[in-house]
Amino acid sequence: MEIIHVAAECYPVAKAGGLGDVVGALPKYQSALGHITKVVMPMYRTKFLYENEWDLVHEGGQHLGPQFFRYSVIKEKTNKLGFDLYLVDINGLLDREKIYGYDDDTERFLSFQIAVCDWLNKWQHKPDVIHCHDHHTGLVAFMVKYCYEFNYQLSQIPTIFTVHNAQYQGWIGWDKSYLLPAYDTWKSGLLEWEKTINPLASAIKCSWKVTTVSNSYLDELKQNANGLQNLFQYEQGKSVGVLNGIDTQVWDPSTDSMIAKNYDAEIVDKGKKKNKKELAGQFGLDPDKPLISFIGRLVGEKAADLLPEAISQSIYQHHGNANFLVLGSGEPDLEFRLDQMKNQFHGYYNSFIGYSESLSHLMYAGSDFLLMPSRVEPCGLNQLYALRYGTVPMVRNIGGLKDTVTDMGDMNGFGIKFDQSSVWDITYSVGRAIDLYTNKTELYTWMRGYMMNIDHSWDSSAQQYIDIYKSLK
Ligand code: ADP
Repeated sequence: MEIIHVAAECYPVAKAGGLGDVVGALPKYQSALGHITKVVMPMYRTKFLYENEWDLVHEGGQHLGPQFFRYSVIKEKTNKLGFDLYLVDINGLLDREKIYGYDDDTERFLSFQIAVCDWLNKWQHKPDVIHCHDHHTGLVAFMVKYCYEFNYQLSQIPTIFTVHNAQYQGWIGWDKSYLLPAYDTWKSGLLEWEKTINPLASAIKCSWKVTTVSNSYLDELKQNANGLQNLFQYEQGKSVGVLNGIDTQVWDPSTDSMIAKNYDAEIVDKGKKKNKKELAGQFGLDPDKPLISFIGRLVGEKAADLLPEAISQSIYQHHGNANFLVLGSGEPDLEFRLDQMKNQFHGYYNSFIGYSESLSHLMYAGSDFLLMPSRVEPCGLNQLYALRYGTVPMVRNIGGLKDTVTDMGDMNGFGIKFDQSSVWDITYSVGRAIDLYTNKTELYTWMRGYMMNIDHSWDSSAQQYIDIYKSLK
């Protein structure tokens, strides 16, 4: 089959979170299964762009409302990522250093989607399926079906949409509807949810198939989906959960070049100790104490707002018997508090406020526990990386965390789970972690060996997607 993925992120070209990891890995595994897989994404001004060679494959022009824009599509020359990578360049709109966060994000991602549809429309050759990811590409399914310029050629191509995160929906006021290419206005309802254009809702309505990144998340979305719960209930017949995998080549402690000492399950204790020593040295922590880390966006969804209180309480209540390290960026107030706390808890807590791919690898390798108290967690990749690096996940029992971690109190359990995103639950779990580390060394050793051997590679999920595509033909 020939599949084209349309997304705003793809690792290592541009990544802000799990979406980038998935779009960088799933196509590679689909290619390995013998399919022709392509990814098309915006051409941001990233390092990857300048460090690689490109062929110009298409030039075109389109309208964003009354404004004409030119775009070009370039293709990476060497198939470096294991699939065909295409970037769409639109001067003045997509050529920025960051992926998101600009006032004109609506115009940026609308023009990207219009350019992608226009390119696919003009290309003699057509994919067998168009697979879109998250709200930045949510209007493609509508455009290929109901925009007059595209639907003659493209409406028969199946569209599949994956919801990586339903909190963000890309809302666009109706006053900007003139920016869309001319469409069948009888179908306006397919763009709308609660009186605004809602790209996520439109994708769920118009795509042939909808997937979420875990089964539990799909169930939870029917109860709580930032306003779209009724839609998820209504469309449940065409929705299915497919658990994300991880790229086991990028995330492999035995070959990872970003960590201090490579190791596998055989020498996990020795390997992790060396990495922890490196981390403890960099951050002024005690390598003999259990190290509990948090990595992620500092936002309410991840319950990062609980960290300052939960970490201080844990340090007081457990008499400083654990160390804490935070890597993240997000809400400015929270960034400030987590940075300030360094002075108060010097030697017990430290943080790096910002984004660092290499530090994240060292933290997965050198930490003993990885804390994820998320309020919402569609799949969660951090806990899967933690498992691969022999780091015990401490997670709230929700979404993908529920589906991938078993509590150490249960049969063959290898993690620490708690029910609520609350300071109390976190503090209590820190106590369990310290007890495991200090008093239950045999169980702790068994858990690390066991978790490192769990297969979370993309092999089976990549095949599940292929089966879904085939069911649409
Ligand atoms: P989400 O996509 O909701 O942010 P996921 O668990 O699916 O959460 O994926 C998060 C990904 O982003 C992981 O690869 C994680 O290591 C990475 N990540 C998040 N914040 C940072 C950061 N500040 N520095 C480096 N990597 C980060």
